[in-house]
Amino acid sequence: MSESVYRTTTCKIKNSEGKEITGSITIEVRRADGIKCQRCWNYHTVQGNPKDVCDRCVVAITEMLPYLEEQKLWTKDECEWWRIEVQKMKDKWKAH
Ligand SMILES: [Zn+2]
Repeated sequence: MSESVYRTTTCKIKNSEGKEITGSITIEVRRADGIKCQRCWNYHTVQGNPKDVCDRCVVAITEMLPYLEEQKLWTKDECEWWRIEVQKMKDKWKAH
């Protein structure tokens, strides 16, 4: 990327010795490594979570399962699939 995207107010950037760096600098903005969580859109690097969600969302969804099922937002089969996948994850952790 060679064009200016953002023009901000002036800021001073110093090196590790506290000496101000003058002249132009380039800051590259790149997409984070990893998988985009389907629920919260944060990027994470955990492999093998159900539906590729992050660890926080695994916990959140697991806690919400009774509600999701009761409100018929997820079918009984989807909830059961989730429970099995989470159990598989836990078994994998125990094996390590
Ligand atoms: Zn998430």
